[in-house]
Amino acid sequence: MKGLDSLAVAGRVVLLRADLNVPLDGTTITDDGRIRASLPTINKLRKRGAKVLIIAHLGRPKGDSYADRAAGGPSLAPVAARLSELLGAPVPLATDVAGDSAKAVAAALADGDVAMLENIRFEPAETSKDPAERAALAARLAALGQAYVGDGFGALHRKHASVYDLPALLPHAAGDLVEAEVKVLERLDEPARPYVVVLGGAKPSDKLAVIANLLGRADRILIGGGMSYTFLAAKGYEVGNSLLEADRIDEVRKVMADAEARGVELVLPVDLVGAARFAPDAEHDVYPADAFPADREGVDMGPATRALFTAKLADAATVFWNGPVGVFEFPAFAAGTRAVAEAISALPGFTVVGGGDSAAAVRRLGLPEDGFSHISTGGGASLEYLEGATLPGLAALAEPDPAS
Ligand code: ADP
Ligand code: MG
Repeated sequence: MKGLDSLAVAGRVVLLRADLNVPLDGTTITDDGRIRASLPTINKLRKRGAKVLIIAHLGRPKGDSYADRAAGGPSLAPVAARLSELLGAPVPLATDVAGDSAKAVAAALADGDVAMLENIRFEPAETSKDPAERAALAARLAALGQAYVGDGFGALHRKHASVYDLPALLPHAAGDLVEAEVKVLERLDEPARPYVVVLGGAKPSDKLAVIANLLGRADRILIGGGMSYTFLAAKGYEVGNSLLEADRIDEVRKVMADAEARGVELVLPVDLVGAARFAPDAEHDVYPADAFPADREGVDMGPATRALFTAKLADAATVFWNGPVGVFEFPAFAAGTRAVAEAISALPGFTVVGGGDSAAAVRRLGLPEDGFSHISTGGGASLEYLEGATLPGLAALAEPDPAS
């Protein structure tokens, strides 16, 4: 894979695919981590005299088009405004992706300037399963610039036009963020031991494949959060109104049997915080995992589990953590996630946080980011890499430049 330094960029319009998909509350950015993580590559390109034209997505536009934008769909306007503040330079935003506005914005760029295209997902072809549709959009994008830099790590697992098809059309390179993220993932392929993985988040279906692959790598896997209830149900426990993927119970049982056969320790919660309803001020209590009331909903791990997870992390030389272990967005139910984050930050070894919500949790709980060796900007991409999958965007960047 070619790095940024070997790509000619001076005086050229460089299409920079970045991952600026930040969480929003209305039009307020609640965590700008992904924007900040993209700054080094943007600044490097500016310094080298590139005209930087950023391609990014935000949320999931409904109806897939500009009609959604007209209806107030997820415009990148707040992101362009925040990026402009962070760069201390104007960041004009085109009103379309590859139309007249985009062309005008590209034409107005001077060396060292930065501008953005509107939300790439306003173009349905971006995410199309039809290669011809994606190719047509990629060609329109390619016509806007003379080089491509792939730095949107969090989107590399997507076979999308701007991630997978576009790099084939232009001289291209990986950005510094992508290079740094990949280096970390490679290090997790040959971890110092013990290697402990903590998995949480909402649904096991998202993560069962990664668990299956990690059974061949990790020494211990701690499972918390919304996904733990399906594991507890697989053991025959009552989980009340907690998140449960009943159709995954068989698969979860198989994972548990595999773990046992391979001598990988699977650690599940031993107590849970059960709330009367899903609300920040809901009445709640702590219950043993094997005596959970049928009318309660699990929203966090209990104190015994916090101590157990902390102990199971204490000797780790390598840690990968993905997924909050409770509904940390509600302060009353953030204690489990805080305990996991604190236990990991206390370790001297190589510690990686992967996952948009996990990274946001670290920052929202006010924990110092330098307590971790690396906080990844991409949950899905990290997980797919750890599953052993080839990331389409990474494969595309590794291809040679097109013949000119
Ligand atoms: P990441 O983005 O880090 O990969 P996920 O997207 O898989 O993480 O999951 C994050 C979500 O999981 C958070 O919004 C959090 O509220 C939710 N979650 C964690 N534990 C629970 C739980 N016990 N019940 C319901 N939701 C939970
Ligand atoms: Mg998430």
